[in-house]
Amino acid sequence: MNALEFVPGVFSGPRLGQSNCYLIRDRGQTVLVDCGMPKDREQIGRFLALAGWRLDVVALTHGDIDHRGAATALAKAAGAEVWAGALERPFLSGSLRPRRLVRRMMTHLLSPVAVDRWLKEGDEVAGFRVWETPGHTAGHLSLVRTADRVVVAGDALVVSREGPILPRPWLNEDQEQAQKSAARLLALGPSWLLTGHGRPWKGPEGA
Ligand SMILES: [Zn+2]
Repeated sequence: MNALEFVPGVFSGPRLGQSNCYLIRDRGQTVLVDCGMPKDREQIGRFLALAGWRLDVVALTHGDIDHRGAATALAKAAGAEVWAGALERPFLSGSLRPRRLVRRMMTHLLSPVAVDRWLKEGDEVAGFRVWETPGHTAGHLSLVRTADRVVVAGDALVVSREGPILPRPWLNEDQEQAQKSAARLLALGPSWLLTGHGRPWKGPEGA
């Protein structure tokens, strides 16, 4: 088992085709943050089995197909719960018609996700705080551990070769909100920024 542990308790998940996922282990609880496409359930399941970790929670930063894909299957297989942002409920339940064409075109691929706990700003997830970071989607959230400034940012930011940037405007439901959310996260001075796309980014003041 060779999971990369960035900082105590925070691991990269298996390398998936379309997006990144991460694992947080805290006080005996294992939380998977985002879970790739539907097809990625097998790879993630194998990864967990090899690590010998029992999955307790699948936490979603947002409802896009490449982040929610395997949620239902993984949760069902492990008897785990699914947690997601309360403001993402219309998108996750299938009642929302997204503004962006790319997201609308993919809605036929989406099946609704049964969410066990709806998260709000300030809630705790395995030692991290929930920050509502809307813009990419309306109910997008990030997980922030203020003690060591580790940030799991979903698609609030992506890491390019030059460092963290916003996702392309045509991927953001509300560009102005997305800019505000990204600025808020970066103002923290993350020691590690773990995003849905791109490599883990170690901030200049990173430990
Ligand atoms: Zn996304």
